[in-house]
Order: sequence, then C-alpha cells, then structure tokens
Amino acid sequence: MDNQQKNKNVILIGAGVMSATLGAMLKELAPSWNIKVFEKLEKAGAESSNEWNNAGTGHAALCELNYTPEQADGSIDIKKASSINEQFQLSRQFWSFLVNHKRIANPQDFIMSIPHMSLVQGEDNVRFLNNRFEALSKSPLFKGMEYSADLEKLKEWIPLIMEGRTSTEAMAATKIDTGTDVNFGALTEMLFTHLEEQQVEMNYNHAVKDIKRSSDSTWEVKVQDLENNKIEYHNADFVFIGGGGGSLPLLQKTGIPESKHIGGFPVSGLFLVCNDPEIVEQHHAKVYGKAKVGAPPMSVPHLDTRFIDGKKSLLFGPFAGFSPKFLKTGSNMDLLGSVKPNNVFTMLAAGAKEMSLTKYLVQQVLLSNEKRVEELREFIPTAKLADWDVVVAGQRVQVIKDTDKGKGTLQFGTEIVTSRDGSVAALLGASPGASTAVHAMLEIFQRCFPDHVGEWEPKIKEMIPSYGISLAENPELLQEIHTSTAKALQLDEKSPIGI
Ligand SMILES: Cc1cc2nc3c(=O)[nH]c(=O)nc-3n(C[C@H](O)[C@H](O)[C@H](O)COP(=O)(O)OP(=O)(O)OC[C@H]3O[C@@H](n4cnc5c(N)ncnc54)[C@H](O)[C@@H]3O)c2cc1C
Repeated sequence: MDNQQKNKNVILIGAGVMSATLGAMLKELAPSWNIKVFEKLEKAGAESSNEWNNAGTGHAALCELNYTPEQADGSIDIKKASSINEQFQLSRQFWSFLVNHKRIANPQDFIMSIPHMSLVQGEDNVRFLNNRFEALSKSPLFKGMEYSADLEKLKEWIPLIMEGRTSTEAMAATKIDTGTDVNFGALTEMLFTHLEEQQVEMNYNHAVKDIKRSSDSTWEVKVQDLENNKIEYHNADFVFIGGGGGSLPLLQKTGIPESKHIGGFPVSGLFLVCNDPEIVEQHHAKVYGKAKVGAPPMSVPHLDTRFIDGKKSLLFGPFAGFSPKFLKTGSNMDLLGSVKPNNVFTMLAAGAKEMSLTKYLVQQVLLSNEKRVEELREFIPTAKLADWDVVVAGQRVQVIKDTDKGKGTLQFGTEIVTSRDGSVAALLGASPGASTAVHAMLEIFQRCFPDHVGEWEPKIKEMIPSYGISLAENPELLQEIHTSTAKALQLDEKSPIGI
C-alpha cells in the first residue's frame, strides 16, 4: 500500500454527534489519515445533538413501546427492540473504551443511570404491556425488567405521576434500572476536544456550499468562511455528510445516483421543562407512554428526569409541530429548496398519503401552553402551568423515499446513504438517532472502507468487544460487557427510586 493510499484525506461536514463519533473511531483505526471538520455554527453539538434539543434518552428499547409492535394474533414482535438494544450496547462499549483510554474524562458529564419505564392506561393497553413484558423477559437483553399493575407498587415507582390520580381505569408499568440519560451535547463537545488534540482540523463558522467530483475523482468541497465570507475549496478522498437536518441538501449536491428520489419532511418539536427542585425530586425515571392514535412514532409522550450540567430537571414532550426549516438555525426555504425534478413525485406521493400526519402536526402547532399542560396532566395530574417552561427542541427531517410499501413512504428511522464507490456517505433521519451512532459508523465502514475493515478488525474488537457477535445469543458475554461498561461509565444501575 503506498503512502497516498495510507493517508486518506477525510472531510466531516457538521460538528454533531455523528461526525464526532465517526472522527473518534477513525482516529483509532487510521490515526495517520488527515481529517478536517467544517461546521457552520461557532461551536460543536449546537443543533440536534445539543442537550436541550433532544430528549437525551439512551435508546435501548427498554421503554419505547413503538419498538415492540403487536401482531395480528396478539403476539409481540421484539425483533426491532432487540436490534436497537444490541446497537446501544455497541455505543456503551465504545464510550467505555474512550473513558478507559483517557480519550475523554468524566463519564458522568454525559451519561447517568436512570430507570426506564413504560406506562399505560386502559384494559387493552395493560394486556399489551403484559404481553410485551412476557416477550421481552425471554431475552437476556431485557433482564431485570419488572412489571406491575398494582397501584401501590406504581405509587412507589412513580409517586409524582400517581399523586392526585382519580381515574379508576386500569394502569400498568414496566421498569428496568439499566436505562440511561445521555447528554449528547456534552459528549459531542468532549469528542471534538479530543479530536482537536489529535490534530483534527476544526473549522467553525464554515458553511459547506457545494460538493463536486474533481477530475482526479476526489471530492471538491466548496466552503464559505462566515467570518469574512471568503470562499475556500478543499479536496477529500472521503466525505461524510453529517449535517443533521442539513444533510439532505448537501447529499443532493453530490449528484450521486443514490441521492435521487429522496425527500425530507421536517418535524419540529417542543418540550415542557420543570426546574423546581421540589417537583423534580419527586420523579426519578424516564417514563414513556403510548402514542396517540394518528400520531407519528417520534411523538410518543414521555416524562423524563434529565441530568444537564450537574442539575436535575424534568422534561415532558415532545409536542410536534411544522416548520419548513431543516435545522433550527436553517432557512424557511429549506423544504422548498429540497424539491428537485427527481424527487417531486416522491414528495407529492408522500403528501397525499400522509394527510393524517399533516392534520396531527397542524393540531399540535395550534396548541396553547394551557393545552400542552393539559396533556402533561395525563402524566402528572397535579401539574401547574406556572411550574413549566417551554423549550424549542431540534428539527427532525424525516426521510421520504420510494420503498416496496409504495412511492413516497415516510421513514422514521436513521438512514445511511453511500455512493457506490464508498467515497461519500450521508446520514439522514433522526431515530433512534444519537444513541446508535456507533452502529451507524460501523455500517459506514462496511460500505465505504471494505478493503480496510479486515485490517481494522482487531482494533474494532478492542474498542467494541462484542463486534460481530449477537449478545442476545451470548448471555455470558452480555453480562460481562454490561458489568464492565457500567464500571467504566460509572453507571449506578441499581439506584433506588425517589432520590
Ligand atoms: C426533538 C428530538 C428529540 C430527540 N431525542 C433523542 C433521544 O432521546 N435519544 C437519541 O438518541 N436521539 C434523539 N434525537 C435524535 C438525535 O438528536 C440526532 O439523531 C442526533 O443529534 C443527530 O446528530 P447529527 O450529528 O447527525 O446532527 P446535528 O447534531 O444536528 O449536527 C449537524 C451539524 O451540521 C451542521 N451543518 C448543517 N449543514 C451544514 C453545512 N452546510 N455546512 C456546515 N455545517 C453544517 C449543523 O450546524 C450542525 O451542527 C432527538 C432529536 C430531536 C430533534
């Protein structure tokens, strides 16, 4: 292998958790490669990855009911839940490697233990939750999950939610202590600080304007320095488009065939936040409910304990909404600008199919704060408007593409698009999102660096011991990894309720 092949030039667009994760993994696997990062804002982790722009749930399918659909025969399909749980285990392992090898410092600055719970009301939902619990309990991935329909037990688990509840409807919950709250904003900043120390070139206030193939088949990236408006050109062998909501327009600029027939639909979000210590101390869990009929999966209501900058708070939401912007700091022209001759029919088909989603979003936009608190009262019957503030969350750009389910199908997951020659990769979509960033990057390595993956494998296994192994099928390894990652990340997985 000659020197030029050895030392690839890599450009990461966007300083969110995805570019941070890719950069941190590449620095371990190919330390001599040159990496440049271009970020249009003045700091890292300021869009969706910012702690107040997302819910900070370490998604491991411990509480999210939409990952365990009920089948026509009443049985519960746990395939998606198991896959997401396995993906989160990869993140835990990589983060532990970074801590153990002093790449990043105090893990409690970005990850904390918090029980994950699912809570339902009504006979049908209670039956569903019980079936789900039975199905998940058979897998070692969900070991330790408890189920209860006993109101006294629920009062012990979630006193704030049970206080002042007058409804006589049946209720049930599951609880598992191995859940986490993750401050993805802090993690992103820690990773970029580490990368800067490793000679990664960070360019803040630099907006990427265009990406074109050069005659030597590298990519020419046109960048505007926003401090002086000067245009610069940078070449790379590999470009990662980690622009969050801004990824789709950049992907379209590459002109690669894989970028065609893809559209994006932005969904904005709001949370209610409570910082009153007296109220905050009465709740210690992330409690996920069931999405309302017609509501998209990302709008499942949940009441979360958050740990941000050493302070505990409560977060409730998200309330969805519509804004044509692809980023919180984006432009009102983003949606219109993303409609191209190659995706216009895909977009129109989605528009016609998703009337109920449009209706739902319009209803959500029109909610007053009093109405939002009424929804909160389904979780906390005693909630008062004065104790809660509204925070505007990040934008989620849901991918629209043509699938075997038809033209213009709305996707709610995370999508990776790569060029055939592996020289460009883009990450679109937002769910499960940041929690599964490590899995997404491993997928990018397989697709974009197939010639390197063999040589990298020993190092990948050092960073992620379960790489290539199903933990569900290897309970002893799962136990070992769970114990070692809990120790490295200082997770207190048996923390008592109510502190
Ligand atoms: C309301 C909400 C709740 C969520 N809850 C969770 C959760 O509980 N758990 C979870 O795991 N995930 C959650 N997510 C998803 C998670 O936040 C995202 O998956 C993740 O942050 C995406 O990271 P990213 O690096 O791709 O994007 P971002 O963090 O948005 O970063 C992209 C960066 O690219 C920059 N950029 C864009 N265009 C350009 C350009 N042209 N030139 C230069 N820079 C550019 C932007 O300024 C930004 O800094 C949630 C998201 C939202 C919106």
